[in-house]
Amino acid sequence: MFCKNCGKELNEWAIYCPECGVATDKFQSAEKKQEEESNGIAIAGFVCSFFSCLLGWIFGGVGLSRANKRNGKGKGFSIAALIIATIGFFIYLETIL
Ligand SMILES: [Zn+2]
Repeated sequence: MFCKNCGKELNEWAIYCPECGVATDKFQSAEKKQEEESNGIAIAGFVCSFFSCLLGWIFGGVGLSRANKRNGKGKGFSIAALIIATIGFFIYLETIL
């Protein structure tokens, strides 16, 4: 592939141009993939929080820290997972006490 900024020929796997430093399409798709992944973790946490508060906390916590690094995508689901997991935990406490 070629740099879209300066036209220099690049490695197929290059994520940025060594000549001018502009990020390639590959870099952008890698970013996007990570973004989707953190969103997936947040949604997984949201779903798990209905069944297991521990899983909800783990996925919610991981999703939230990843969402903070990746422009807040999946933050809502992560927070919802943490809240539902916490409510679930109190309901569980009520039933065993
Ligand atoms: Zn370039």
